[in-house]
Formats: sequence, structure tokens, C-alpha cells
Amino acid sequence: FHAREKGSNNPKEKLLGGLLASEFDEESCLSRYHHQSSLHKPSPYKPSKHLISKLRSYEKLHKRCGPGTESYKRATEKLGQDVYYNHVSNSGDECRYVLWMLPLSKLGLGNRILSMVSVFLYALLTDRIMLVADQRSDTSDLFCEPFPGTSWLLPLDSPLMDQLDSFNKEYSRSYGTMLKNHAINSTRIPSQLYLYLFHDYGDHDKMFFCEDNQMIIGKAPWLVVKSNQYFVPSLWLIPGFQTKLIRLFPQKDTVFHHLGRYLFHPTNQVWGMVTRSYTAYLSRADERLGIQVRVFEEEGASPPIKHVMDQIVACTQREKLLPEVDTRGSQVTTTEKPSKLKAVLVTSLTSGYSETLKSMYWEHPTSTGEVVVVHQPSQEANQQSDKKLHNRKTLAEMYLLSLTDKVVISASSTFGYVAQGIGGLKPWILYKPVNHTVPDPPCGRAISMEPCFHVPPVYGCKGKTGTNTGNIVPFVKHCEDRILGIKLV
Ligand code: GDP
Repeated sequence: FHAREKGSNNPKEKLLGGLLASEFDEESCLSRYHHQSSLHKPSPYKPSKHLISKLRSYEKLHKRCGPGTESYKRATEKLGQDVYYNHVSNSGDECRYVLWMLPLSKLGLGNRILSMVSVFLYALLTDRIMLVADQRSDTSDLFCEPFPGTSWLLPLDSPLMDQLDSFNKEYSRSYGTMLKNHAINSTRIPSQLYLYLFHDYGDHDKMFFCEDNQMIIGKAPWLVVKSNQYFVPSLWLIPGFQTKLIRLFPQKDTVFHHLGRYLFHPTNQVWGMVTRSYTAYLSRADERLGIQVRVFEEEGASPPIKHVMDQIVACTQREKLLPEVDTRGSQVTTTEKPSKLKAVLVTSLTSGYSETLKSMYWEHPTSTGEVVVVHQPSQEANQQSDKKLHNRKTLAEMYLLSLTDKVVISASSTFGYVAQGIGGLKPWILYKPVNHTVPDPPCGRAISMEPCFHVPPVYGCKGKTGTNTGNIVPFVKHCEDRILGIKLV
């Protein structure tokens, strides 16, 4: 076995440099302590002291305010009464909550993970605890509990559960709608506020990202967030948060890397899928390359689509990620140990791309003498985000990609963002094809491993309009794969 697989006994490494709490039982969630030490290389990115102490104090707060506690009961009673808050009544011991909700309709796992990290960071910044409202119990099927001695799941008997179904864009209790209707101001604040931060949100919803509005939102003890976005970059543009964020993340492009690895620990079922695939197909290789193929356009075109396949080959060869093949047959492959064994992990809804690569490296020798082995764990054909087994496969594949040494991802795919972020990998991005042709260049290296916020507000705080959010501070730039999107660098 490869040296990396033996596991680490170094306690600090096991806890990801102090990122993870130590009091969990290991067996019930093998990925928590084994994820980093047994399969991953140690991360070169270390969490800051401030982040570590913030997480430990967050864990205490969550234990005190979480489901089943007296504080939770008191806070829940207020919900029914619909009290209006006209002052910050937080005497210090009152608990405040922010709920991330899983919509019943289709929401991809990548989008889901990115928005959960965003809500968790918001909870850290505002001293709230984050709870997950999930009527489908899919969250507990995929992920272990992240906080020790408590739960992150909103109890199913919470009065808020019944209201989640009616929470859509125009919901009368959503902050944006209330602003639009002048139904909220700093002296009239409901006990529960709904924040709609979905990709199709409106101008009033976007006021969430303004400092003055945060003062108002901050007073409501319960917030319910419906989001499918990685809105972290825009939190860095709110002056009051920026100071705190710089202390927590002196390396600004590590937010998702640290918080993703802190929050998400696949359950034993999912982790079994990850380790079996890794051991069977990746562990013995000298080098591992991940290729994530996500084709958004050309619905109906039958895969493998030629220009997408050509783009994958052009990218991996131009960037020297995979060797060229010798079609003239001047090379012979001997039975002696190859100079290098390269394993390629392909993830895609269809099998054609990996089959083409596999044939290419079987039918011809490589010009370098390396041997290339290609593996694709699943081919699910369609997105089926309401099915548990489908989501388990998706999560297992995201983690497998994160375990590779280098990764190529498809433009604008949140599935790929999760893999690169968890893995601490600056990916190569396959640019979006234009007019069914291979773009030139076919791919390029990302400026950072952070995910992209696809739909940031074009700044409108204090009546300003049309501000370019990619030009305000040097560490928030436009994304490589989305002109209007922004990301941390
Ligand atoms: P995005 O749409 O690419 O931004 O990523 P999401 O993860 O939000 O949504 C896509 C969903 O389609 C995933 O969550 C999966 O359910 C499914 N899917 C897409 N590509 C793959 C793949 O390569 N493997 C598997 N198992 N599922 C995939």
C-alpha cells in the first residue's frame, strides 16, 4: 500500500490542525478522523488560532442552545407568539438561530453544501447557531453530526417545519417582500425572518448584503435561509464582517477548505463507498488525476459530445496532465514495471467520456511510457436529488475527486467546486464551449481553490447602483468561469 494509506497517529493531523473537536466517538463516523489522516495528504493550509477558538466557542454555544435544551424551548415558545422586537433584547444568554432549509424540490448536492457553508459562516459571524431544517432526513443519511454533544437538525416538531413549504420567492414573511411592502423597520421586527438567497432572488432580497439591513436582520431571534449559493464572498464586502473575517481567515482563499472539512463528514455508508473505490482504483497509482465532466448545454445531444471529448483531451495534453498517445506505434509497452502508473478518476452522469479515454490508452502506448488507468464509479444518467442512494453516490464521488493530486473541473459546476475546496486543490477549469466548439484555450488554471458566488448583488447599498463588486477589494475578484460571479483569492 501507498504510504499515505496507513493512517496517521499524529493527533494534531488527525484533528486537522485543531480544526475538529476531539470528543467524538470514532467508530460511529469513520470519516471524521480518518478522512484526513488515512487517505488525504496533510493539508498545507493551517487554520488560524482565531478560527480554532471561534469553533470551540461555537460548539459550546450550540450545546447550550441546541435542540432539547431549556434555551431552545424558550426560544421556540416565542415563535408561536410572534412577538415584535423593537430593541436588541439580547442580554447575552438568549439564544439566536439561523436555519438552513432543504427545499423539497430539486437541489443539487453541490449547491446544497456551498450554501450550508455560507450559512454556517454567517452563524459564526453573528453568534447564532445553525440548524438544518430537513423534512426528508437526507442530511443525516449523508453526513455525521458536526457539533459534539448536540444536534444540528431542527426537530421535526418545530412549529417552523410547517411553514417551510410556503417559503418561496414572494413569501409575505420574507425579508425582501417585507422591505418592498414597507412592512418592516428597525422598530418593528418579527421573531422570525425569512431570507431568500436563491439564484433568482430580487433586489430587495439582495439588501441582505448591506450593513444597515444587517442591523435590522440581526435583531430577529430566528432566521430561516433558503439558498443554493456560495454567498461567502459578499459577506467579506460588509465592513462590519470584514474585520472579523480577516482575523478568522488570514489566508482568505481557505474559507471553504476549512469550513467544508470542519462541517462535512460523510456517514459510514458513504465513506465505505469512498474507501472501496480509492483502494481498488486509486491507491496504487503514482499519480492521481480527477476529471469532472458536467455538461449543462446541449440537452438532448447524445453523449459523448464530440467537442466536449475533444476539449478534455486537448486540455489534459496541453497542460501535461496526461501523456500523449503514440498513434504511429513506434513505442512498445513491455511487461516491465512502467515508468509511472497514472490513475484517472472520471465523474460524469454518462459513461462515454471515460470509455473514450480508456480505449485511447488501451489501444495506443503513451509517448512517455507511462500507463494510464481510467475509472468512473457511477453513471447515473440524470440528476435525482430526491433519492438517497443517488445522493450518496454523488457525495462519494465528490470526496473521491478531492482525494486526487490534480483536478480538472467543468465551468460553473458547484459539484466541482466542492471537490476542489475539500481537496485544497486549485483546479484546471474546462471553459464553457461556445457554438459547439472547443474553446481556445480549452482550459486554464483557477486563480484560487474557492468556489464562485454566481449571482452576487451589484452593489445597491445606500442608494448606490452599478458598483462592480469584483473591484472593491483586492481579495474578491471576478470568477474565471462566470463573468458576473465573484470569488475570494
Ligand atoms: P451543479 O449543478 O453542477 O452545480 O452541481 P450540483 O451538485 O448542485 O447538482 C448536480 C447534481 O446532478 C448532483 O448533485 C448529482 O445529483 C447529479 N450529478 C451531476 N454530475 C454527477 C456525477 O458526475 N456523478 C454523480 N453521481 N452525480 C452527478
